[in-house]
Amino acid sequence: MTQVDDRLVQDMVQSVLSHIQTGWGGRVAPVTGQAVAAPVSAPRAGGAVATNGTPAGAGNKFGQFTDVNEAVEAAAVAQRALMRRSLAQREIACDLIRQICVQQADRLGEMEYEETRVGHRAHKSEKLVLVGQTAPGVKFLRTECFSGDHGITLEEHAPWGVIGVITPVTHSLPTLANNAVNMIAAGNSLVCNPHPGGKGVAAHGAKLFNQAIYEKLGIDNLISVITQPTIESAQEIFVHPGVRLLSITGGPGVVAAAMKSGKRAICAGPGNPPCVVDASADLDNAARCILEGAVYDNNLLCLSEKEVFVVADVWDAMMSAMESVGACRLTSQQMDQLGRICITPARDGGHPSANRKFVGAEPQVLAEQLGISIPAGCRMLFGQTEPDHVFVQAEQMMPVIPFVRCATFEQAVEFAVQAEHGFGHTAIIHSRLVDHMTAMGKAVDTTIFVKNGPSVAGDGSGGEGYGGYSIACSTGEGIATPMTYTRLRRCVLVDNLRII
Ligand code: NAD
Repeated sequence: MTQVDDRLVQDMVQSVLSHIQTGWGGRVAPVTGQAVAAPVSAPRAGGAVATNGTPAGAGNKFGQFTDVNEAVEAAAVAQRALMRRSLAQREIACDLIRQICVQQADRLGEMEYEETRVGHRAHKSEKLVLVGQTAPGVKFLRTECFSGDHGITLEEHAPWGVIGVITPVTHSLPTLANNAVNMIAAGNSLVCNPHPGGKGVAAHGAKLFNQAIYEKLGIDNLISVITQPTIESAQEIFVHPGVRLLSITGGPGVVAAAMKSGKRAICAGPGNPPCVVDASADLDNAARCILEGAVYDNNLLCLSEKEVFVVADVWDAMMSAMESVGACRLTSQQMDQLGRICITPARDGGHPSANRKFVGAEPQVLAEQLGISIPAGCRMLFGQTEPDHVFVQAEQMMPVIPFVRCATFEQAVEFAVQAEHGFGHTAIIHSRLVDHMTAMGKAVDTTIFVKNGPSVAGDGSGGEGYGGYSIACSTGEGIATPMTYTRLRRCVLVDNLRII
């Protein structure tokens, strides 16, 4: 049988399943309110059985692929099947993913930690719960409308089809789960090339999601994963004609590679978020917030505070405030020594970068490198450095935060803008002066700008608004939602249907 015939058969099967679900007339029962799926059971040994009575057979892959062509083909079949379903059924698929994230957060968080060995164990599960509780779904989609003498025009947010997805090792499953909810809510399917360091948990999570969706809706492979990902398989996805859009979450290398592909790419690239503390700030609050944001998952978050600029007037008080909240202060010599161990110097005109061995390390592990011990409860190291220090210039992704003493507020902002490197990601200020907030906001020009809170408040944790694991700072879409993964289609009725 040729590949085309295979595809036709798969399409027919999905189509039959679709009609069983929706009724042969194509009508779908109206669904009011939020669609809530039944609790998700653990996958059964012997294979899943869809609620429509279709047993999972040898043909079910549950999103596990080694070959990019097969993955794209299967995701395309799944996406066409999804488009024959109601919006309520899309929401059910999203809900199933959310439920697995919450109900299996402990086990999946443990798996992710054991496999990646980066970050803080407890936060691995917490991040999944957050996806489960907050990832926006179908209701986030909007339709624009024009009504006038010439009738009615709608602008609808339509899916692209199959989206090629790259995820980072720092949040392997949370990023995949969050992307999947956003993309499926918008009517897409996805093929993911996870970071090799987190490929096991990504593939396992995708399997659980696909199994649950298949059991409930009879659609398999909406979330397809390359189980043995390489740079080459990423490249194949980048240029595959069946992939219409790319969604990249990672560092500068992968963002540059995706942008060269010739495809539209939504890029959630690196950050190096600066934090400024001026003389008017509530220093106790600033210290609590810096600690909360900077230590989350051992500083792995792209939006976490990575360096702090403090004006000289409150320098001593701010350093004391940091110690009061439990951060351990290092001498400048110790900061230099640790910088030599944990940061790789800049090459080829780039920025210094984190030594992978220490990314997401516990503060105790970092202290051991200096031959010192710190209290078990200490979550963060900090110390004074110059503004050009490697810990200031590198996206260190480890809980050691450089503090720079600045002569004036203006100098602090100047250093902050320089350290942000034009990534346009996140910046934070602690101040009671609105003119300082405004001046820094204009100067840094970042996607997220947080005032008087921890960085994570800018991503829905403790601040208003939704959150997400792909902050598209590099290409300007902001924190990704279902709308991010749509294209506009216009539907025009001329000279009629305007009823006023
Ligand atoms: P990384 O850049 O090493 O890897 C990210 C992904 O890109 C991985 O899947 C990797 O296999 C792939 N990759 C790397 N180089 C590639 C290339 N040349 N071609 C194709 N694929 C390639 O990053 P990481 O260590 O996994 O994650 C940390 C980085 O991601 C940090 O820079 C962080 O700021 C960024 N990040 C950004 C966001 C955001 O929302 N903006 C979220 C999480 C992480």
